[in-house]
Amino acid sequence: MNSSPGGCVVRAGDACFAELQELVALNPNNANIEIPDETLAGLYLIFGKNFAKAVEVVDGGGIVCYIGEQTGRRLFKVPGSHAPDFYIVFPAHYCSCQSFTFDVVSRSDAAFCKHQLAARLATVMKRSTEVTIPDITIALMLLEQCA
Ligand SMILES: [Zn+2]
Repeated sequence: MNSSPGGCVVRAGDACFAELQELVALNPNNANIEIPDETLAGLYLIFGKNFAKAVEVVDGGGIVCYIGEQTGRRLFKVPGSHAPDFYIVFPAHYCSCQSFTFDVVSRSDAAFCKHQLAARLATVMKRSTEVTIPDITIALMLLEQCA
């Protein structure tokens, strides 16, 4: 094995999310699919407490997925613990929260923050509101984060 531990976590997580996606695809009319215990246990094992927190975030609702009309690029707005706070999230690469900066980028303690996991889970479980917007608006939303 010449891959990093982080890479293993990402791949194992991908496999669990793919499993979930298949389950959802088998039940297109069921908006409220129960996650099987096995899959849940796998995701907890891989992502730890951040996954538990992500489930809470998804259950709390309010996750919005903005889709660029030309590029299909997806940017999420995920509610923070204190409304009306929210975070800007690219599930695989970025979140605007402090935990992402400290735990994921600086210390490499976690592969993803809870908002990134919540955005992914919400996508797979079809629990986010999808809104198509011009790509320039997505760019502006990101720029606002840098201000
Ligand atoms: Zn975050």
